[in-house]
Amino acid sequence: MLQRTIGPLVFALAALFASLAQAFDLTEIAPGVFAHQGQTALMSRDNFGDIANLGAIVGETAIAVIDTGGSRAEGEAFVAALQQRSAKPIRYIVNTHVHPDHIFGNIAFRGTGAVFVGHKNLPRALAVRGPHYLASFRETMGALVDEVVLIPPSLTVESETTLDLGGRKIVLKAWRTAHSDADLTVLDLQSGTLFAGDLLFLRHVPIVDGSLLGFLAVVDELRAIPAVRVVPGHGPAVAPWPQALDAQKAYLDHLTRDLRADIAKGATLAESVKTAGRREEPNWLLFEDYHTRNATAGFAELEWEAP
Ligand SMILES: [Zn+2]
Repeated sequence: MLQRTIGPLVFALAALFASLAQAFDLTEIAPGVFAHQGQTALMSRDNFGDIANLGAIVGETAIAVIDTGGSRAEGEAFVAALQQRSAKPIRYIVNTHVHPDHIFGNIAFRGTGAVFVGHKNLPRALAVRGPHYLASFRETMGALVDEVVLIPPSLTVESETTLDLGGRKIVLKAWRTAHSDADLTVLDLQSGTLFAGDLLFLRHVPIVDGSLLGFLAVVDELRAIPAVRVVPGHGPAVAPWPQALDAQKAYLDHLTRDLRADIAKGATLAESVKTAGRREEPNWLLFEDYHTRNATAGFAELEWEAP
C-alpha cells in the first residue's frame, strides 16, 4: 500500500527534476563563457528558487562557476547542463554574495571537489544570516529548503585575487558594502565578460541590503572595469557594458536625492518612504516587493549624515 502511494510520488518528483534539468537554459555568451538567466520573480516552490543569473567560465584545464542557484534541485540542473557542455573539471565555485538565490545550490557542487570562493566577509555573513534564511525560506519553498546545506568559502578574497583556469585568467574583486556587505565580481580577461552579481540589477528593481551610499559609489567605480559585456545578478542574462549601469544609477540617485530632501525638511521615515524614489516605479519589475524596504534602509542611513 505504502509502496503504491510512494511509487507514483517518487516518479512524479523525478519527472519534475528531469524537466527542470531539460528546461535549464545555459547560453554561451562568448567563447567558453556561459550564462543562465533566472526568472524575474520571488523564490518559490514552483520556480525552484531559479531567480538569479548564474554563470560559468571554461579554461583549458578547469571551469569556474559563478553562483549556484536557489535550491539543490536548481544546482543539480546547472551541474548537468554544464557537464553536457564541457568534460573539464569544475575547480572553483564563486559565490558573489550571501543571498539565498545565489548560494542555496552550493550543495549540488560539493561532490565535484571544487573550491568554494567568496568575499572575506562571506563566512561571517553566512554564519549570521544562514539560519534565518533557512527558516524563512522554508515557508515559501517547503521541502526544497530541507535539502540545502550552507557551504562557506574555503578561499576568501580580501581585495583582489586572480584565478588561472588554464590559459585563461579571471579576476575576482571584493567590494566595500554596497548591495550587501560581501559583494564579489568576476572578470574574465579573455572575453571581457564581467559577472557583476547583485552589484547590477536590470529590470528587477535594485535591492539595497548593504548601504545606499556605498552602492551609489560602487556603481561609479564599476564603470571603470574594462569589460565589453556584463552578466547582471538579475534581469537579462547579458547586457552591453557599461551602459547597463545607467538605469540602476538613476534609481539609486533618485532615491538618495528624494530621501535627502525629505530629511532636510524634517519629514518622518513613515512620510518619506511613501514618496521617495516613487517616480522610478514604471522602470522596474517587483518594485512593490522591495522599494519600500530600500527607502526605509536608505532613510535610516542618510538621517545620520551631517546636514
Ligand atoms: Zn542579492
